[in-house]
Amino acid sequence: MKSDIHPRYYDDAKVICSCGNTWTTGSTRPEIRVELCSTCHPFFTGQQRIVDSAGQVERFHRRFGLTSEGSEASDAATAEIAEATAG
Ligand SMILES: [Zn+2]
Repeated sequence: MKSDIHPRYYDDAKVICSCGNTWTTGSTRPEIRVELCSTCHPFFTGQQRIVDSAGQVERFHRRFGLTSEGSEASDAATAEIAEATAG
């Protein structure tokens, strides 16, 4: 290998997932932070889980009355839809 052109290789680079799972791998970076891993990804867990950091799913449910709060939310949503389609 040519000298002084290769990055430093870490044999024990630590990977840290947002779910708390950690493992070691080889990398040119000493620490890697990931949002999803094979322990928590829906493909591997078989459970549906939406990564919703911005609260967009909750906002959708609130807006279109899909929550358990009752008719008040759906009345507001209906009015909002009518308002949106009228213009
Ligand atoms: Zn994970």
